[in-house]
Amino acid sequence: MPDMVNETDVNKVVRQHGEMEIFFTGGFAVKGQGASVNKAEAKTIAEKQAKLDAIAAEVRKCCKCGLGKTRTNAVPGKGSADARIVFVGEAPGADEDAQGRPFVGRAGQLLDKIINAMGLKRNDVYIGNILKCRPPENRDPRPDEVAHCLPYLQEQIEIIKPEIIVALGAHAARTLLENTKSIGQLRGKFQEYYPSLGKPAIKLMATYHPAYLLRSYSPENRRRVWEDLKKVLGELNLPVPDK
Ligand code: URA
Repeated sequence: MPDMVNETDVNKVVRQHGEMEIFFTGGFAVKGQGASVNKAEAKTIAEKQAKLDAIAAEVRKCCKCGLGKTRTNAVPGKGSADARIVFVGEAPGADEDAQGRPFVGRAGQLLDKIINAMGLKRNDVYIGNILKCRPPENRDPRPDEVAHCLPYLQEQIEIIKPEIIVALGAHAARTLLENTKSIGQLRGKFQEYYPSLGKPAIKLMATYHPAYLLRSYSPENRRRVWEDLKKVLGELNLPVPDK
């Protein structure tokens, strides 16, 4: 009897993930953001990229907190230096630690599908994390780790100057917004992220972390994420795929 229950559970999970996969893939033309850029724009983008590369080099050498000793690779962040959207997660997991790239594990594969469902490609956006190194056993980031690491992300955001930040999950949202509200309270409406004194606020949309979506699958949660991201597309005047 217990075996039957397990099999039913496994089948249910496989079916649910299949549904999620179908929902977030297919049917949309992939739309790049800057098909043609003039020379001056190209120079600005190259300068931004050089600054991001310099931060990445610093991050790879960073030993400001204990995670510098336990990591395999630091994960500085990746994507377009000229992105209109920056996605921010919590911290690298095992796959990201092994490869040095953000969101490459199962949650990352779902994030890719979500980005594609928005009519975009991974290279159109920038993807980073609050922490650049994996906390052992994927434990929650500690305040001292965040305090040492957050300035890297703040600098990256200042260089990229995105129009919208999408905070994936409660940890990223609370850290960037400097509050302790639940993800349920934060998601679904634009909040304001303040880069630094005197700089204009950047709109921030919090939504569920893809890992949470995989763990706590429900059509309702999936719909909530899609509703949040449709608002992001609308705000950027990008076509909103009809789902
Ligand atoms: N989860 C995150 O928050 N970030 C990653 O890069 C991967 C998984």
